[in-house]
Amino acid sequence: MKLLVTAGPTREPIDPVRFISNRSSGKMGYAVAELARKRGHSVVLISGPVSIESPRGVKLIKVITAEEMFSAVKRNVNWCDALVMAAAVADWRPAKSSGKKIKKDQMPASLPLARNPDILMAVGPQKGKRIFVGFAAETGNLRAEALRKLRLKKLDMIVANDVGRPDAGFEVDTNRVAFYFAGGKHEQLPLMRKKQVAERIVKWLEKSNSFRR
Ligand code: C5P
Repeated sequence: MKLLVTAGPTREPIDPVRFISNRSSGKMGYAVAELARKRGHSVVLISGPVSIESPRGVKLIKVITAEEMFSAVKRNVNWCDALVMAAAVADWRPAKSSGKKIKKDQMPASLPLARNPDILMAVGPQKGKRIFVGFAAETGNLRAEALRKLRLKKLDMIVANDVGRPDAGFEVDTNRVAFYFAGGKHEQLPLMRKKQVAERIVKWLEKSNSFRR
């Protein structure tokens, strides 16, 4: 399979030293990329700023902002059989970013924001027979939100993650996730290492991809 994976946060600059971002270590997306490579697949990994080493044999495209991630996904999506959007894309960016550091006393009390593109929605028309997997990190209404995003973004599977729990979600090595599938089925997984979650995702991709050929 040809797998396109996104990982990590995006960073939206206010000025050269300040930014807004999302909590994301990149561990989940990197685990998917590494495992897929080990299982013999071709992997392109589009990554926001993280402090993890690039997995061997994976083509790494480094990006900073959501706009950069969007154009990298657009450029590579036609190549892939499956897109796994594990990145925590910032939904908003400062409407203007300053080329010079803004002085403390010149910093306005509120920051005008602009919406970033929703990458999955925007590449929807390029889906064709490709498998699209998304992630949903929620602190409440996990099932309802995951199902809403699965349908809205026309995904084949969404990995739902309750980030309100200390042992699952951001920065830690473990995750407790549920998979929701386009066909209506779902599967709740116990607390697992992210690498094991990655294995479940990649094996499911392999199975689904073989049905599409
Ligand atoms: O942020 P949200 O909960 O809507 O994210 C659900 C899915 O959509 C994730 O897979 C995420 O990577 C993706 N997403 C995106 N572009 C955005 C925001 C989220 O593709 N601007």
